[in-house]
Amino acid sequence: MFSSLAAVCSVLIELTPSGKRFKVTALSIVRGKRVTFTVYDVIIIGSGPAGLTAAIYTSRAKFTTLVIGGLSWGGQLMLTGLVENFPGFPDGIFGPELMSRMRRQCEKLGVQILFEDVTAVDVSHRPFKINVGDKSLEARALIVATGASAKMLGLPAERRLVGKGVSYCATCDAPFFRDKKVVVVGGGDTALDEALALASYAREVIVVHRRDQLRACKLLQERAFADNKISFIWNRVVEDILGEGRVEAVKLKNTLTGEVSTMPTDGVFVAIGYKPNTDVFKGQVQLDDYGYIVVKDETKTSLEGVFAAGDNHDFRYKQAITAAGSGAKAALDVAKYLIEHPL
Ligand SMILES: Cc1cc2nc3c(=O)[nH]c(=O)nc-3n(C[C@H](O)[C@H](O)[C@H](O)COP(=O)(O)OP(=O)(O)OC[C@H]3O[C@@H](n4cnc5c(N)ncnc54)[C@H](O)[C@@H]3O)c2cc1C
Repeated sequence: MFSSLAAVCSVLIELTPSGKRFKVTALSIVRGKRVTFTVYDVIIIGSGPAGLTAAIYTSRAKFTTLVIGGLSWGGQLMLTGLVENFPGFPDGIFGPELMSRMRRQCEKLGVQILFEDVTAVDVSHRPFKINVGDKSLEARALIVATGASAKMLGLPAERRLVGKGVSYCATCDAPFFRDKKVVVVGGGDTALDEALALASYAREVIVVHRRDQLRACKLLQERAFADNKISFIWNRVVEDILGEGRVEAVKLKNTLTGEVSTMPTDGVFVAIGYKPNTDVFKGQVQLDDYGYIVVKDETKTSLEGVFAAGDNHDFRYKQAITAAGSGAKAALDVAKYLIEHPL
């Protein structure tokens, strides 16, 4: 697909203030259609904490930087309420406000942000080619900061009540449930990790699992069974979440008998796993069996010049601050790479 871009009709070279580094805007006719493309020093895919932090670093280092931020810019924190564990905000800060501030900081530093999804990439040779609709963009280095999405139950009430009792992150939200009763949905490692984290705060933690056996590792099972705040309801799925302004109850369906019951609760933690947003990189950089980007030496992917940052490779910490830190690391590694590998 990209080879058909060969016929360049006109090229405009813009020297950046730093003189050496360049941005090239070119016009090409592909199958009778005008297509513009630009070579940036670095393109960052994703506008969550990892992507925007990386952009702050690369733009301050005077590398021409484009963030392709996605249709849902800002990432996972746009879905949450008060964030109490991001340093610098003693009273907490709302997730969308934190992301707006990061965006303003980027824009002030001259970062260009495109609010579209990347539809295809070709990283087989440099400059790397990134497709966004009918735009084809090029970069000397790439930071992939596409994050991950918590798997949802798919209930209409879930979206309505997210941040109002529905959560996908106990590390983030458990302190809001001090002395409350909460339900954790799931039966794998994530679910038991969440249940154990919640048990430090909540009065009662009930794990609802659709089968009669857990998939979680033995060690987590032993810990959860030994915790007297945690109990289990087997062979049930959450059919609905009830409540107007806040979660008040869950409707549970017995997977064996079909019987439906209602159980009051103050919160619902959905812990049925995460999906890394790496589909466009399948076959381009090495992914593990779950789709996470495989990194070595902190930020390097299997392909030289392509770096990864944030939750798309970090299935362990999954926090805004760790994603931001990972973005900073990727940017510093990109800077070193660009100096050592001028195109
Ligand atoms: C409800 C909720 C509450 C949370 N609360 C907290 C909290 O209180 N404290 C905390 O530290 N952490 C919290 N987290 C976790 C935190 O949000 C994540 O760890 C963090 O956002 C990960 O950052 P990231 O930049 O790696 O990815 P993300 O935030 O997931 O951002 C990824 C970005 O990539 C973009 N993208 C994906 N695919 C493409 C594509 N093909 N083209 C272009 N763009 C693309 C997306 O649109 C998005 O903008 C919470 C998470 C959730 C879901």
